[in-house]
Amino acid sequence: MKSAVLTDEREVTVSDRERPTPGDDDVIVKIGACGVCMTDYHLYHGTFPAEFPVVPGHESAGEVVATGDGVSNFEEGDRVAVFPGIPCGECDFCKEGKQNLCENTVSMGGAGDEILDGAFAEYLRAPAQCLQDIGDLSYSAAAFAEPLACCIHGVDRADIESGDTVVIVGAGPIGLLLLQAFRASGAGTIIVSELVDERREIATQLGADHVVDPSAGALADHVDELVDRVDVAVEAVGLPTTIEEAHSITSPGGTTLVFGVPPQNESIEIDPFELYYRELEMVGVFALTQNTFSRAVTLLQGDRIETERLVTDELGLDGLQTAFDQMENNEGLKKMIYPNGR
Ligand SMILES: [Zn+2]
Ligand SMILES: [Zn+2]
Repeated sequence: MKSAVLTDEREVTVSDRERPTPGDDDVIVKIGACGVCMTDYHLYHGTFPAEFPVVPGHESAGEVVATGDGVSNFEEGDRVAVFPGIPCGECDFCKEGKQNLCENTVSMGGAGDEILDGAFAEYLRAPAQCLQDIGDLSYSAAAFAEPLACCIHGVDRADIESGDTVVIVGAGPIGLLLLQAFRASGAGTIIVSELVDERREIATQLGADHVVDPSAGALADHVDELVDRVDVAVEAVGLPTTIEEAHSITSPGGTTLVFGVPPQNESIEIDPFELYYRELEMVGVFALTQNTFSRAVTLLQGDRIETERLVTDELGLDGLQTAFDQMENNEGLKKMIYPNGR
């Protein structure tokens, strides 16, 4: 089968590999679609540690084509989305349902202590416990279950109340999913701050009440003009400066979500008195849980989340390089890979 393999830093090759066979509790999924994510980009750049060679790709959906002897809840022909983590199920975090904090993170093609081959390949071997039935949802929409589940986890962590004012800093594919997840969860006024014109336009189409261009004056001034308070400020860029900025506009009693992947070993400045006196919260959001994954599939099936407009590039396995090049220049939004063609 064909796979897109990272063979070294900044080196991606499409090569022929042996098609996997299922272990007792596994299934083989013929990949219908797999989204390209910033994590793939970081693996490719070596900014997220990985052992090469590895097949990235963790936002996938497809059809079950083989099952192990121990699998009873899935059969050939089932259409599924793949939860890309393989939780150990034994540690305290797993037992609390916090699979994203599992002490022994194994991932299929995504971030983890151990990374197994992912879904930028014609076929993927996955434990049956990682599958979620998608019914007749399209593969490309179902491939959003993973990033959307991360956003739902963010909404959970923000603990919003109906009518809360939310500011989202950054309207890449994730910012635009966050916007829709907050909208679906009862947020009141939503403001989106984004440098790129087309992204601001799409944010408006997808339900932002206001969009602001952060290159045209300080975010705090824009926000002051528009709303009296900010209950939740979400940083979806991943830069120390924008995290500080998001924190600076959060109103007393409010929450700043650190959602974008920040660089490691950097510092930000926080005034501890302000944190104390104004009861400000700064909350990290990492990845997803099986619970948010299954809720993501429910929202997608219920047509509560627009995904088609987020897909700007549809590529085969040999297009992964192109996708990385485009991401380097902030070109387009979601790149969708179809390993078995469309
Ligand atoms: Zn991802
Ligand atoms: Zn665990």
